Amino acid sequence: MKRARKRVLVAGGAGFLGSHLCERLLKDGHEVLCVDNFFTGSRENIRHLLANPYFEVMRHDVTFPLFVEVDEIYNLACPASPIHYQFNPVQTTKTSVHGAINLLGLAKRTKAKIFQASTSEVYGDPTVHPQTEDYRGNVNPIGPRACYDEGKRCAETLFFDYHRQSGVNIRVARIFNTYGPRMHPNDGRVVSNFIVQALQGLPITIYGDGTQTRSFCYVDDLIDGFIRLMAAPDHVTGPINIGNPGEYTIRQLAENVVRLTGAKSDFIVRPLPQDDPLQRCPDITKARTLLDWQPSIHLEEGLKRTIAYFADQLGVEVA
Ligand code: NAD
Ligand code: UDP
Repeated sequence: MKRARKRVLVAGGAGFLGSHLCERLLKDGHEVLCVDNFFTGSRENIRHLLANPYFEVMRHDVTFPLFVEVDEIYNLACPASPIHYQFNPVQTTKTSVHGAINLLGLAKRTKAKIFQASTSEVYGDPTVHPQTEDYRGNVNPIGPRACYDEGKRCAETLFFDYHRQSGVNIRVARIFNTYGPRMHPNDGRVVSNFIVQALQGLPITIYGDGTQTRSFCYVDDLIDGFIRLMAAPDHVTGPINIGNPGEYTIRQLAENVVRLTGAKSDFIVRPLPQDDPLQRCPDITKARTLLDWQPSIHLEEGLKRTIAYFADQLGVEVA
């Protein structure tokens, strides 16, 4: 029997993206089971959802099997910032690989549709620009980012093998850098770092010469892409790039943050981390044609909303 109100499991639901996804699914009238081990996520991110009778939270590590009955699964469980995923790299690989096996096993048993939050990191330091889904990537398998990049690549392999071997209904999104409220203020990601530094009047830390590029997607746009991918016809398995193709150098991002916060911060240069990709920009032709999706929130607007969030968190006035 097909229900209108679906039972949806969100693994990693207390994290930055997961909390926005839980919120959206509840708004769409579904029952949400948020599964999280709270490694990088927090109760604070989902506190506003706890009173909803259709929202349930379970503390659980996805590297262990899980027995629940659900209609759809979103697998977002994995630390996403370099500082966090490099803190315990073996656990990061386990989370991606064992987590995928456990959740795919659950999907197979319950016949649930399952979504994987993959990443632009599967392209490594790309030699094709912008990145299309058929580009196979340039990943260093033994570097400090490998636990994340190779873990996510192996998870994609598992998703497609469960699909081919057992007919599991899969959706794989390759997410490009996303920002917005509820990013962890200390996770070292560039948007949160720059905003927090600017709001506190601290120097802005630019790694390397700041000419490396990233493309920044506002969280609401991204979540809309997730929902569309999950609702697409079953042959639309992905992998599909979801991100904002507006590309900026890190120095341009810093200048934007300083302008929008009215900060007096200087820029200071720090060493470029090993294997830091020089450029990154999604080709979103597939998302446009297959999902009728494209981002609608410009960096300027998204930064203003994110600055307002952090200013509130830090208790500072924006100049
Ligand atoms: P996040 O760190 O805020 O969220 C990850 C969540 O997973 C946290 O709540 C964490 O506690 C939980 N988690 C980690 N290990 C777990 C485990 N073993 N068992 C259960 N829960 C576990 O990161 P995010 O930015 O919200 O990213 C969510 C997903 O999207 C991740 O899989 C990440 O790889 C992917 N992604 C994010 C971005 C981005 O720019 N934010 C880009 C590409 C891919
Ligand atoms: N970066 C920076 N200053 C910071 C944090 C990050 O210059 O304080 C750079 C980092 O070297 C990288 C880019 O910003 O080139 C994006 O970093 P982030 O960790 O946000 O994401 P990822 O490297 O995983 O895309």
